[in-house]
Amino acid sequence: MKAAVCREFGAPLSLEDVTIAAPEGQAMKVKINACAICHSDITYMRGGWGGTPPLLFGHEAAGTVVETGDGVTSFAAGDRVVVTLMRSCGTCPSCGDELEAICATPPAINEKIITDSADAPVITAMNTGAFAEEVLVHERQCIAIPDELGFDEASLLGCGVITGFGAVTRVGKVQAGETVAVIGTGGIGINAIQAARIAGASTLVAIDTAADKDALARKLGATDFINPAAENAQERIMAITNGTGLDAVFVGVGSSKAIESAIPMVRAGGRIIIMGMPASDDLASIDASDLSGSAKTVIGTKMGSAMIREDIPKLIALYQQGEIALDELISHRFTFDQINAAIDMAASPASSRVVITF
Ligand SMILES: [Zn+2]
Ligand SMILES: [Zn+2]
Repeated sequence: MKAAVCREFGAPLSLEDVTIAAPEGQAMKVKINACAICHSDITYMRGGWGGTPPLLFGHEAAGTVVETGDGVTSFAAGDRVVVTLMRSCGTCPSCGDELEAICATPPAINEKIITDSADAPVITAMNTGAFAEEVLVHERQCIAIPDELGFDEASLLGCGVITGFGAVTRVGKVQAGETVAVIGTGGIGINAIQAARIAGASTLVAIDTAADKDALARKLGATDFINPAAENAQERIMAITNGTGLDAVFVGVGSSKAIESAIPMVRAGGRIIIMGMPASDDLASIDASDLSGSAKTVIGTKMGSAMIREDIPKLIALYQQGEIALDELISHRFTFDQINAAIDMAASPASSRVVITF
């Protein structure tokens, strides 16, 4: 099968013929029909989190089960699924605390999954490797989807949508009437906006340096839009909240600068939720006396602390009821052989979500 392999950080991906193993145990092979490009893929393929190429990225996907290992109990060939990077055991202390994204003992699958034409292993990053025609994943990484849900829309449920929703509902626990801002209206942030609107936020400020994100953010629930490149975001937040600051700020951009900017935006007793994943060496500088003196809380979350078996079916139902948008989040579609152009577009502020179709 074809895969877009990262041979060198920062270089274009290399479209190659590779071999994928047959599934063992609870592994299953899924034919990929759509894969969105997440900013985490871009950070990783530019070397932001280390590792040693060759690596295979792509972790926000949807497809069709083609083959199951003999231990698979929940799926059969032909099932349509969302594929996520979340491989959890379901029984360790983290899973028991409803934190499957930080499962302490994720179950293993085939040791060798992908080999290249020289029979050398290619590592599937983030448990997935969906920049390829097929993936081999654990059955607990997948959630069934109904026939009427398109693969393109479904792929977004694998990462961006659950992260933004989980951050708001499970981590930030936004209550009706609260004042909220979301920094960065990309794949995660735009979904935090949808979730905060449904939670009943009375003021919902979208903050993004791309001025053309204004319309979609407002359509999905933002009451205000601030472009921090054009105006002083802190002053505007204080004006909007009559000088008190916000109840909660969600940071969807994986950058220490965005995190630093969020802390003075919240009121005394307010909370800052970090959703985007910065590069490993990106250190934030924080006024510790503001945190303690004003009793502010900074909370990190991986994958919005989502529990995929509960959250993805719930989000599909919300989509079918017209409560959340998925298709409108997709600004560009590319075919698999155009993956490098798709990645450039995903990295550009001109795009919303970019999906590769197979
Ligand atoms: Zn992601
Ligand atoms: Zn676990």
